[in-house]
Amino acid sequence: MRNLLIFILVLIAIWWVRRALRNMRSGGSADEGRGARRARGSQPEAILACRQCGLHVPESEGVRDGDAFYCCEEHRRQAAGR
Ligand SMILES: [Zn+2]
Repeated sequence: MRNLLIFILVLIAIWWVRRALRNMRSGGSADEGRGARRARGSQPEAILACRQCGLHVPESEGVRDGDAFYCCEEHRRQAAGR
């Protein structure tokens, strides 16, 4: 009976250690992910002027049309219509 208890305790210990190792590994990868995100976030985003109205907008918020850049889809269409 005592041996069984020790056996169970050992199983629990192994399970706990494996879980801790897995947490450590996943935690490490999460840190890597955060670091990558931070690196991406720290990258200066280009602020471009709209060709139609001259408004300066971050590149990701505007619309690109070849070499031209517009603050919104509407201005891209207006410029194309001209
Ligand atoms: Zn515009």
